[in-house]
Amino acid sequence: MAAPTLQSARLIADASGRAMAERLQSRVQGMMLDASDPDETANGLTRRLHDICRMRHPCVFVGSLEWLVLALAPALVGMDRDQLAPVVAVTPDGAAAIPLLGLGRGAEALARSVADALGVLPAGRATEGLGTAVPAPRPGRLAVIGLGPGAADLMAPAVREELDRAQDIVGYTTYVRMAGPFRPDQRLLDSDNRREMDRARLAFELAAQGRHVVVVSSGDPGVFAMAAAVVEALDQSDDPAWREVDLAILPGISAAQAVAARAGAPLGHDFCMLSLSDNLKPWSLIERRLEHAALADLVIALYNPSSKARPWQLSQALDLLRRHRAPSTPVVLGRDVGRPDERVIVTTLGEIQPDQVDMRTLVILGSSQTRQFPRRDGGAWVYTPRWYPAP
Ligand code: SAH
Repeated sequence: MAAPTLQSARLIADASGRAMAERLQSRVQGMMLDASDPDETANGLTRRLHDICRMRHPCVFVGSLEWLVLALAPALVGMDRDQLAPVVAVTPDGAAAIPLLGLGRGAEALARSVADALGVLPAGRATEGLGTAVPAPRPGRLAVIGLGPGAADLMAPAVREELDRAQDIVGYTTYVRMAGPFRPDQRLLDSDNRREMDRARLAFELAAQGRHVVVVSSGDPGVFAMAAAVVEALDQSDDPAWREVDLAILPGISAAQAVAARAGAPLGHDFCMLSLSDNLKPWSLIERRLEHAALADLVIALYNPSSKARPWQLSQALDLLRRHRAPSTPVVLGRDVGRPDERVIVTTLGEIQPDQVDMRTLVILGSSQTRQFPRRDGGAWVYTPRWYPAP
């Protein structure tokens, strides 16, 4: 008999194993759950099991192992051991895939394929009777960390520790490189060509297998970065193994804070953070937000202000803001702050040129109260006082 593959095996489940069987099916292309009526009686299921055994069809059963043994027993009486087709038993929590019958005729390989697909260890090669169930793998850890703006001394010690303990590091190559150097035993998962949600799911898959995974963001992971995608991925998943993962979000210094500190204290009073990127939201919404932020006289920190793919958005945003704020309003442009090529420019809303701004720049636009005055070194201090003039 040719070695059975997962695609050729019948997949059946009792009620307790149904969710895990569906998960297995979703991970193995071409594998079909031998669908039963959810209300199928134990007798019906027993009959189907017996049919499959009689046809000598390889079979993967997910569910109560005690029930399986009791159901199979009558069908096995008097059968020649060598005639039994491979049967692999999987526990409802997916923690063990046990070659039960048909040992030496492909049951072990089938169990190994099931274990691979579920990301667990296969039960050890069983030479007689039942295999030994391996304990469920220890749930892994998934930490979404913020590197801060770039300089090593602006990274939180908790983040450094997390990176040192990580086994798998997931993120954009640029950020992963900033987070290094790494040891040879640490796996770097280049995920530049993945979308955010796919990267988040990859991280969860690894952590659900017991790995210690770190997802890297620049600045703060919760500010226009990976933390939201990771939490959303968990919210959308019904995979019980994902719920077991020890998930932590470790904050970092965001670009707005880093740039503000270089210029003085422009965020000294109420402010907001907006992303000008219309990749994930419509431009009309961005304009409405800008309008309201301007009307509320908030200091505005603009992330993702401009890129080659989005050349006109910043000019349009500035035109809108000029309708609400004086040309003398201070503007801080911080580029690559905390990195070797750092550059901070203080200008005004009247004078700012869109070509001074690119994707590596953060823009802080002052409120009606934001002021600037010269520094000894020729630059300017910018601040927004904590108090407001009485109306
Ligand atoms: N999570 C990040 C923001 C990611 S969005 C954070 O909290 O800082 C990317 C945008 O952040 C860039 O387009 C730029 O506007 C800003 N940015 C990130 N790092 C920066 C740095 N070192 N200097 C200036 N701006 C930066």
